[in-house]
Amino acid sequence: MDRTSIYSLDRKKLSTIVAENKLQSFRVDQLLKWLYHDKVIDMAQMTNLPKNFRSWLSSNYSFDLPRLCALKHSKDGTKKWSVGLESGNFVEMVLIPERDRNTLCVSSQVGCALKCDFCSTGKQGFKANLNTDEIVGQLILANRHLSREGKRVSNIVFMGMGEPLLNFEAVSSAINLFQDDCAFGLSKRKVTLSTAGLVPGIMRMKETVDCSLAISLHAPTDAVRNVLVPVNRKYPIKDLLAAASEYIESKQSLRKLIIEYTLIEGVNDSPQDAAQLADLLKSVKCKINLIPFNTFGGSDYKSPKDRCVKAFQRRLVSAGHRVMIRSTRGSDIMAACGQLAELGQNDADESTGCESDGQRKVALTFRESA
Ligand code: SAH
Repeated sequence: MDRTSIYSLDRKKLSTIVAENKLQSFRVDQLLKWLYHDKVIDMAQMTNLPKNFRSWLSSNYSFDLPRLCALKHSKDGTKKWSVGLESGNFVEMVLIPERDRNTLCVSSQVGCALKCDFCSTGKQGFKANLNTDEIVGQLILANRHLSREGKRVSNIVFMGMGEPLLNFEAVSSAINLFQDDCAFGLSKRKVTLSTAGLVPGIMRMKETVDCSLAISLHAPTDAVRNVLVPVNRKYPIKDLLAAASEYIESKQSLRKLIIEYTLIEGVNDSPQDAAQLADLLKSVKCKINLIPFNTFGGSDYKSPKDRCVKAFQRRLVSAGHRVMIRSTRGSDIMAACGQLAELGQNDADESTGCESDGQRKVALTFRESA
């Protein structure tokens, strides 16, 4: 019988299961702690749970996880893995170690349907949604890798492949597990969902998730944004900023909205663009992240000159905004923003158990367990 991965169950789903088994609700905490604190991969070891519940769990749920297939090391310390899914598809995840934190950039979809003109993932089109366990599995596997150095992931960003708000159920369940004290226990501000701007999804977030929000704005006017982020034709800038501000205001624990602005030479990086952006955001409580465009094969867009990026930042700062320039971590291994693609285990620095079979990449190993 095909068993579902136990890592697909967030607190809400576990509560239903526990109630159906006529058990009290504290069993949910116990089960979560076995899975995520004690990291057991055998129901029999969950000794404080009733025996018949353990055997019921064993016959219905597995400890299946995606596989880490190929690892690439950047000279700046960034690591990128190709992650093999049960469906035979691959996504990528990126680990960015810094002095005071370890950020994991997770994927939520195989490919993406939104066709943003400057994004490599967008060029591939949409293939599939990831399940909750495939998203949570990325964190489990990254933590397992870091544990060898006595470290763990401290921050999660949904800035890998896909549009998280188009895979709402799985993403919100994963976020709930990331933040659950009996699971990963990450604080609300350390989990960031980045969206190209799906207004209904942002409104839905108000009810079900409580994490930081990043908006991929990339242009100060609808005319330019319509080209770079085509979903803007459906949800124009004014509606998007209103929805995002409403979300942030509904969450007392979050301080600011993050505005992402990818600078592309000659497209959106002029002094006039900076002035328009400063004006557009003047009453929006936000922090602006400037991302110099990362090149990839098949795109005619160009990275801006360093001095243009700095000048753009200065103009926004002098208008009173808080502006960071995001360093392009991992660009030498195509791990920077917008460079992720479904590569399988091409050109790996290290094989992690998958083998390649000519053109089609076939995973030969079984799915790893936690
Ligand atoms: N779908 C989500 C997550 C995408 S990736 C979103 O749109 O927000 C995270 C960020 O990288 C987004 O802001 C995205 O617009 C940006 N990005 C995409 N391609 C890029 C590229 N080639 N160079 C720099 N940033 C890019």
